[in-house]
Amino acid sequence: MTDQGSPRSRGNNLDPWYNHYAQRTSGLAASEVRALFAVASRPEVVSLAGGMPFVSALPEDLVVGAMDRVMREQGPVALQYGSGQGVPALREQILDVMALEGISGSADDVVVTTGSQHALELFSKLFLDPGDVVLAEGPSYVTAMVIFKSYQAEVDHVPMDENGMIPEALREHIARLKADGRRVKFLYTVPTFHNPAGVTLSWERRLEILEIARQNDILVLEDNPYGLLYFGEKPPAAMRSVEREGVVYLGTFSKTLAPGFRVGWALAPHAIREKLILANEAAVLSPSSFSQLVVSQYLSDADWKAQIDTFRGVYRERKETMISALQEHLPDLSWTDPNGGFYVWLTLPPHLDSKAMLPRAVTELVAYTPGTAFYADGSGRHNMRLSFCYPTPESIRVGIRRLATVINGETDL
Ligand code: PMP
Repeated sequence: MTDQGSPRSRGNNLDPWYNHYAQRTSGLAASEVRALFAVASRPEVVSLAGGMPFVSALPEDLVVGAMDRVMREQGPVALQYGSGQGVPALREQILDVMALEGISGSADDVVVTTGSQHALELFSKLFLDPGDVVLAEGPSYVTAMVIFKSYQAEVDHVPMDENGMIPEALREHIARLKADGRRVKFLYTVPTFHNPAGVTLSWERRLEILEIARQNDILVLEDNPYGLLYFGEKPPAAMRSVEREGVVYLGTFSKTLAPGFRVGWALAPHAIREKLILANEAAVLSPSSFSQLVVSQYLSDADWKAQIDTFRGVYRERKETMISALQEHLPDLSWTDPNGGFYVWLTLPPHLDSKAMLPRAVTELVAYTPGTAFYADGSGRHNMRLSFCYPTPESIRVGIRRLATVINGETDL
């Protein structure tokens, strides 16, 4: 019954429970571009919007073999609840993966999570109170900001250039926030092959930023899903490689294996690790035993480093294709040229608005993510993120040609 006067009538026509939601859900609005992305998923549209890894580059039999062995040899364990910290053997193997980025640690300090996305959620739950400030690069990873917002924290964007976050700007932001009496809880950073900017924080800046964080008692949350996907020279070692107590490091198998397993991890100082485990248990009891055991089996049986090399080759070719198509079709614009990862960040002429232009792009059968998605403060109208990870090189060429038609059409108006 929803008669007039009943409590439910206080909602609205679309949702009778509208007034019941917790305040923190106010940031959980679907983005305006979401409906367009549904259209953009039609096969005739070249989508340069999403960040989906190209899982077809992973031989299916490697995964089937690992699943088969797990079920035959450890079936009852795989089908059972497990530890809230994660499977011990996998946590040991994760140390080998992190060693490739200069990190040494103990398996005791690794907490396996349901993708690194869930580690972001758990970490935020542990640290954020309403009104807190999170420092992050401008632009920053959109779905991390959704979480920060859901804990009613505010994101303060620190500018970056082609070498990542600018330390001097970080100092200024901290000083201003302190002067305003704001509480900065942590610095969220994607230092390597940034999503969405595509740039990498230089080694000197890593050290400088860690020093600034230390001086100001600010914890660093280092999110590193792309570090092993470099195209040429290896990027600088992880920030966690030089700072143990002040950094919580997040890793994932989503880009080096497959996101469908939903296996990621956090490496944290002891005390934080304890709390992360408790939060993990409260949220999911244990991360998927089946997924963890299959990933662990894959790491034991397959040449996983060679597989990462294969992914690097695929993404390198796609990135080179995208850059050369941009040079050919949009030579007057500027963009980042990443040495790894999935993304190019394009800057439009100041009179163009990437969000306003998106419907026209979709009509021309190409999609991208408008820059505004990656800022909490409405900036980014003259930018867009172009992903080269999923479409084939041929599609990328077609997509950039279509994008140029749209941009040049707007410019000629
Ligand atoms: N952090 C960043 C910067 C990402 O780009 C992504 C995936 N797009 C994630 C975290 C989450 O990855 P997952 O949950 O699949 O590990």
